[in-house]
Amino acid sequence: MSIRRAVAHAVKRTASRWFNNRVSNSVASKDTETSLIEQFLYPKYGPGQMWEKCAEEIVKLGGEIHFQSRATKIEANNGLCIGVVVTDTVTGTERRFDAKYVFSSMPVVKLIRAMEHPPLEVREIAEGLVYRDFITVGVLLRRMRSLDRIESAMTDNWLYVQDPQYTVGRIQLFHNWSRWLVRDSSLAWLGLEYFCSKGDALWQQSDEAIAATAMDELVAMGIADRDDVLDQIVLRVPKAYPAYWGTYARFDRIVQWTDGIENLYLVGRNGMHRYNNQDHSMLSAMVAVDNIIAGRRDKSNVWRVNAEEDYHEIDSK
Ligand SMILES: Cc1cc2nc3c(=O)[nH]c(=O)nc-3n(C[C@H](O)[C@H](O)[C@H](O)COP(=O)(O)OP(=O)(O)OC[C@H]3O[C@@H](n4cnc5c(N)ncnc54)[C@H](O)[C@@H]3O)c2cc1C
Repeated sequence: MSIRRAVAHAVKRTASRWFNNRVSNSVASKDTETSLIEQFLYPKYGPGQMWEKCAEEIVKLGGEIHFQSRATKIEANNGLCIGVVVTDTVTGTERRFDAKYVFSSMPVVKLIRAMEHPPLEVREIAEGLVYRDFITVGVLLRRMRSLDRIESAMTDNWLYVQDPQYTVGRIQLFHNWSRWLVRDSSLAWLGLEYFCSKGDALWQQSDEAIAATAMDELVAMGIADRDDVLDQIVLRVPKAYPAYWGTYARFDRIVQWTDGIENLYLVGRNGMHRYNNQDHSMLSAMVAVDNIIAGRRDKSNVWRVNAEEDYHEIDSK
């Protein structure tokens, strides 16, 4: 087995195990959308644990993973990708890798910018794609008082906040995903999630001001007292949600052009500009690998992943 094929196999095996577990575990709720199921398997230390294991297996099989590297240029010749230029995000140095296949999970707009000579129309559609951005404010609390009070109200993993007087859209209680996500069981991390757009009034505020707003909202909701708070962190996530407006109605033209490049596969969430959850994102990559192994050139089955479902959490706020 070539290294390339062995690595593809390792990724598939790890992802399939996770995916099958999740699917089989949710058989009892198979008529329920995955975002709404009551029970599912979850890695002890969160989803990243699965990818750490996957990375370990790739390296064990002789594969290389280059971190802190941004793909900035995809070279093509005769309708095929032949190389990828990567920029080290720390040193700024460039490296070029030969490419037999390219799987892109980077935002479509960035991919098209990295491609050589895309048709003008494709470039214009890519530039018009819209994303929603996201800020999460982590709040470390002493559990004793506040958590005792809220735990009866917050037994779910997260709580959507509908009341328009609050800016926060959702609150996560990380230890309800897995108690191992919080090292000290006498403490708790809450995540206050703000759905926003990069550059809007909220995004432009300093981290300190956003953290203060989050704290004010927690206190106003009666979830925490100020003296319960031990630490706070503000994390900004650009392009967290691919949006279905802007030029999205003409997205098929991008699909048509990129699908015409035989060894290029658009996979994942921003990679396909589709509101894919993690299982859909993995599945799209797995289907692409299956196609390569089967010698199937038609990529329509990759685009069918998550195409039929009509539940979209993005409507929630
Ligand atoms: C707030 C939030 C909550 C979510 N909750 C859930 C949930 O509960 N369950 C669930 O199933 N899914 C959830 N999702 C969705 C899930 O995170 C995504 O479906 C999944 O991470 C998509 O995987 P991906 O590999 O396509 O993209 P990503 O996980 O975004 O990975 C893409 C990677 O590509 C890198 N990259 C981007 N551009 C370049 C470049 N030019 N060169 C090199 N690398 C690049 C990025 O840094 C990133 O590491 C959530 C998403 C968000 C934002």
